[in-house]
Amino acid sequence: MSTLRFHAIKETFNRPVIDVQEPERRSEIFGKNVFNDAAMRQHLTKDSFRSVQDAVLNGSKISRSVADHISTGMKEWSIAKGATHYTHWFQPLTGITAEKHDAFFETTEDGAIEKFGGGQLVQQEPDASSFPNGGIRNTFEARGYTAWDPTSPAFIFGTTLCIPTVFVAYTGEALDNKTPLLRALQSIDQSATAVAKYFDKNVTKINPTLGWEQEYFLIDKALAKSRPDINLAGRTLLGHSSAKGQQLDDHYFGSIPRRALDYMRDLETECMLLGIPVKTRHNEVAPNQFELAPIFEETNLAVDHNSLLMDVMSKIADRHNFKVLFHEKPFAGINGSGKHNNWSLATNTGINLLSPGSTPMKNLQFLTFFINTIKAVNDYEELLRAAIASASNDHRLGANEAPPAIISVFIGSQLTNVLDALEKVKNGKLSPEDKTDLKLNVVGKIPEILLDNTDRNRTSPFAFTGNKFEFRAVGSTANCAKPMTVLNAIVSRQLIAFKTQVDHLIKEEKMKKDDAIFNVLREYIKDSKRIRFEGDGYGEAWEKEAKKRGLSNNKTTPEALKEQISKKTISLYEELGIMSKVEIEARYEIEVEEYAMHIQIEGRVLGDIARNHVIPTAIKYQNVLIENVQGLKDIYGKDFKKLAGEQMRLIEAISGHIENINKDTTAMIEERKKANKIEDAEKRAKLYCDKVKPYFETIRYHCDKLELLVDDEIWPLTKYRELLFTI
Ligand code: ADP
Ligand code: MG
Repeated sequence: MSTLRFHAIKETFNRPVIDVQEPERRSEIFGKNVFNDAAMRQHLTKDSFRSVQDAVLNGSKISRSVADHISTGMKEWSIAKGATHYTHWFQPLTGITAEKHDAFFETTEDGAIEKFGGGQLVQQEPDASSFPNGGIRNTFEARGYTAWDPTSPAFIFGTTLCIPTVFVAYTGEALDNKTPLLRALQSIDQSATAVAKYFDKNVTKINPTLGWEQEYFLIDKALAKSRPDINLAGRTLLGHSSAKGQQLDDHYFGSIPRRALDYMRDLETECMLLGIPVKTRHNEVAPNQFELAPIFEETNLAVDHNSLLMDVMSKIADRHNFKVLFHEKPFAGINGSGKHNNWSLATNTGINLLSPGSTPMKNLQFLTFFINTIKAVNDYEELLRAAIASASNDHRLGANEAPPAIISVFIGSQLTNVLDALEKVKNGKLSPEDKTDLKLNVVGKIPEILLDNTDRNRTSPFAFTGNKFEFRAVGSTANCAKPMTVLNAIVSRQLIAFKTQVDHLIKEEKMKKDDAIFNVLREYIKDSKRIRFEGDGYGEAWEKEAKKRGLSNNKTTPEALKEQISKKTISLYEELGIMSKVEIEARYEIEVEEYAMHIQIEGRVLGDIARNHVIPTAIKYQNVLIENVQGLKDIYGKDFKKLAGEQMRLIEAISGHIENINKDTTAMIEERKKANKIEDAEKRAKLYCDKVKPYFETIRYHCDKLELLVDDEIWPLTKYRELLFTI
């Protein structure tokens, strides 16, 4: 086995330089493989084009005859670009993307033709019985189908035309991540538009915007493959830390290693073709850790682009002899990876509603959306936490890494002062003097450009960063659809409540519009004080304080997920038409099951490595020592102990670690067996969390100690220093 380790290392020394073809100007190839407006104008009739536009902008339906036209245009466009197949591209509840390719090819009586009709564009029925459905499909004996989502344009990847679709059961229940997201986006469009009209009657549509930042590790492919844990669990389950890690801060924003840069250049070219507007790349804090970020987009498209990107990243990595690790914590002792979700609301008139403006009225609009968001997060902090819960993200949230499992909002000192002043606004109607004072000294004082003025706080899970909120607790493996569904849903609900309250004050209390708005905002500021936290986002002090404030601190996934099926959540989703109780419960079931399976796989892999790799190696080395001691005894007789003392202590130490590994592995397997017998998915997940997982640490501890004792020559597992410092 150790030969595999050394073989892999040797392979990394001989990596060829990969030829990277880059366009002279990125702008020239941007979106070339996307059936975007330009391509549609070329290949569709005016009427068909207008139909798609209307569907994108207003959510109108596309008729079957128009779909036939569109599919013909799409087929011609993609065949001209070398596509041979098409697929509905969707995001089932596995969290990753799914596709099933069909050739355009069809036989006729006297030969064959390329065929792709409207029916095939609009709807498909993948045999999807193997996708998670949380019992929905059994209950309803329903088949699933995929349906075209015209708001996200089709694209060509490789030689396949990919058509973004939703995935639903025949009875209408969503079986994917996109459907609830689209419903949440539709909801916030309506509620935010209604509120934005207080300030500008011309606003007719609100697009929530999302700019994600994707962190990841790059590991040489051969090294990654030499480790069963990376291969099967996406992370290292053991491995002693390297003498050098990230303590010198010499990787963050450092010069990007050549191999990694070549990979990024190749990747970015593919992203350009696919219309993913990537802009930023840099080294992250940990060795071999990097980040990539695009220009923000409308949320549905941004979510699709992130899912597509993760797929493309893995494929391009293969060409560069890398494996991309998206796991939130692939290595102990160094930073993990996240996926910050930058979020805001944009109007059809081109205004960012979370950007302060140049006039008091614009600032009142800004404050309205700003404070309503804070209030929404305050009221649904536990659901937001649930939206980002996963076995892998547990290693960041609630473990020894920022951000914590407690959701709080950071707004910086300037805006804190503004909210403090607003909190003192008088109850009821305001006198002209009050209003002038407010406008001059509070609302008028918000600088137009907050970007450079906002304090930088890196530990807050939900921070205001000048013209957007940044949800930082999202994990690097996450599908952004989940947190985005929750965030847009809770803000939507909040804006509906706000509108009702303001209208009530205007109508019943005869208040002026801005008086009413100030009065409602004042109460929100008071009500949501507990969620605002400007301090260091992790550590015991904050945990204690958060508890006093009544904020949740759900450190593990099984604990966090429960909020997804609370009465409060069900009524939120039902009221807004985002999910039914059946859909909500099915998703919960899927997520707790997935959690247990994750831990189960990790437990099995760890047990295998500990028993079949580590212990036999330790024994082999112990035998060398025994032979040595025996030899010394043969030569030196009774004086041998003076010479063999250290070896004998090593022999004993090794035995001690072996014993502990064996004992804990046996105990872990017993706990797994007990957990597997439990029918109830929620209880099983809890057992895996509370009873199985704790053994990971103890088993690892002893394995890592052995790594330090055993001869490097025979250690079978590629070491941290090799994984992290060999590219
Ligand atoms: P950092 O957070 O690293 O300081 P930036 O503030 O420049 O970096 O932006 C980070 C991300 O925020 C980028 O992906 C960018 O596209 C996104 N972003 C900027 N403005 C908005 C917005 N109005 N809505 C959503 N995302 C945005
Ligand atoms: Mg950021």
